[in-house]
Amino acid sequence: MTATRVLVLNSGSSSLKYQLLDMRDSSRLAAGLVERIGEQTSRLKHTPLASGGDAREADGPIADHDAALKAVAQELSRDGLGLDSPDLAAIGHRVVHGGMFFTEPTVIDEAVIAEIERLIPVAPLHNPANLTGIRTARALRPDLPQVAVFDTAFHTTMPESAARYAIDPRIADRHRIRRYGFHGTSHAYVSRATAELLGRAPEDVNVIVLHLGNGASASAVRGGRCVDTSMGLTPLEGLVMGTRSGDLDPAVIFHLARVGGMSMDEIDTLLNKRSGLFGLCGDNDMREIRRRIDEGDEAAALAFDIYVHRLKKYIGAYYAVLGTVDAVAFTAGVGENAAPVREAAVAGLEGLGLAVDPERNAVRGDRPRIVSPDTARVAVAVVPTDEELEIATQTYALVGKNT
Ligand code: ADP
Repeated sequence: MTATRVLVLNSGSSSLKYQLLDMRDSSRLAAGLVERIGEQTSRLKHTPLASGGDAREADGPIADHDAALKAVAQELSRDGLGLDSPDLAAIGHRVVHGGMFFTEPTVIDEAVIAEIERLIPVAPLHNPANLTGIRTARALRPDLPQVAVFDTAFHTTMPESAARYAIDPRIADRHRIRRYGFHGTSHAYVSRATAELLGRAPEDVNVIVLHLGNGASASAVRGGRCVDTSMGLTPLEGLVMGTRSGDLDPAVIFHLARVGGMSMDEIDTLLNKRSGLFGLCGDNDMREIRRRIDEGDEAAALAFDIYVHRLKKYIGAYYAVLGTVDAVAFTAGVGENAAPVREAAVAGLEGLGLAVDPERNAVRGDRPRIVSPDTARVAVAVVPTDEELEIATQTYALVGKNT
């Protein structure tokens, strides 16, 4: 292929994140974000990485995603990287929910759009926003291949024993209730990068990936294939997150409705937006929580302990699921930066061959690295995630195959 650039779009309900990559060397040519689309106070921040120039910010109303993408296209044109360039090979779209249907990245056509639409009931917040991005980009460059890369795809290899909930399968099937899992692009990238860090083939290693960002999820990856993950029908299940509760007794919901008099929408908001670290102590940023702990704040200390306790339970559970584990990989904002979380999560797990070396763990950096002692049976690794690169790589590979 002569065209080597891929534009990656991550379209949220009121935001549009983008990166333009050159796949010859996976370098980033430009990156940016449009925020608060549809409001008076929209903002576009564009960083021309290829030229090393300063970031440009523009404030002012941007009515919709169409206007947002046109503004992005204009910024890219100013850098000589316009979307009309023959060097642009494809656009890769992050799509949150691909259900059981999409097990791989897929070239977008009308049938694919219809299927993503059909999945809206199981991803009411995300899929409509992703679809808006797809429609907008297709209107702008109808001739260009556009690829959907699904957050759920990596998890479609899970066995039924992990993916099924223990409820009547007729009801589950009617409403498409099962464990789908999310952050799959990150789990795929990080599990592969961890194998590389160990100098082994992905097929030969078992990895527990802990993606700890504002949203957080764990996965058990056997020989490059996902066999279990902590998020479920929606991203609410599993680990304690920035604002989501993660696991709880489902009867809490009946209790809040029947005894607490709360509506379903109120409970939804409580568990998704006002729980987790934020619900426990009023902060969802791990940096702030650590600062408060250093000052002796008890609510912050308890929130940290609850967060770590849940993490440790999942490490143990996935250890048992995998049988043998070669590495535990920490990634995303908290996983990559919060040494105390890594240390606390594996504390006391020497019996499982897990430990961190305090000096290695304290070193900061943006490269994949091992933070366990050389003598440890299981490597503890910090592996920065790169979802945009993974989306671009998958998009480019697929488009290359089809041309
Ligand atoms: P998102 O899920 O929004 O993509 P990120 O992966 O960027 O999230 O992670 C964001 C979170 O990472 C922040 O809310 C904060 O808790 C945490 N974080 C970022 N930098 C640091 C740091 N230096 N130390 C501790 N935690 C950090």
